[in-house]
Amino acid sequence: MTYRVSAGGQYNCPRCLRALTTYLAGVFVADACVECGGLFIDNLATQELMRAFDRDLVGIATTLGIGKGETLPPGVIQKNLACPRCSGTLAAVSLPSAGVEVDICHEHGTWFDANELPKVARAYRRRRRGQLGDMADDALAEVLDGRFRT
Ligand SMILES: [Zn+2]
Ligand SMILES: [Zn+2]
Repeated sequence: MTYRVSAGGQYNCPRCLRALTTYLAGVFVADACVECGGLFIDNLATQELMRAFDRDLVGIATTLGIGKGETLPPGVIQKNLACPRCSGTLAAVSLPSAGVEVDICHEHGTWFDANELPKVARAYRRRRRGQLGDMADDALAEVLDGRFRT
């Protein structure tokens, strides 16, 4: 079950700087950009996503990504994205098995561009099922555990 909590909230999209819309997706809170289709979740939610496939969260990310391309739209900020909460620079972390690069604030959370979150969720599900042998993606776990520092 997904609820829209507020539109035009206090946080802005790191890509296109529009106000993010807050959604409750199951137990998760997601700050989503309806313009570019990206969303920000806190790092506990990202850790949970690595452990268990969450239909609510994947569902909302999929809905947001409808009609959004595989590449970033023109005119958005390309690199050195700012955390929606603290404006600190997000660290880009490559996840080869999912074919994406996510952007992380150690303090606050993870930014997924349009359609990235479902890919990450499916990659971790494949890994849990043993369908991905040697996942080269431990970078994400290390980042979220605080073992990785930029
Ligand atoms: Zn945006
Ligand atoms: Zn932050």
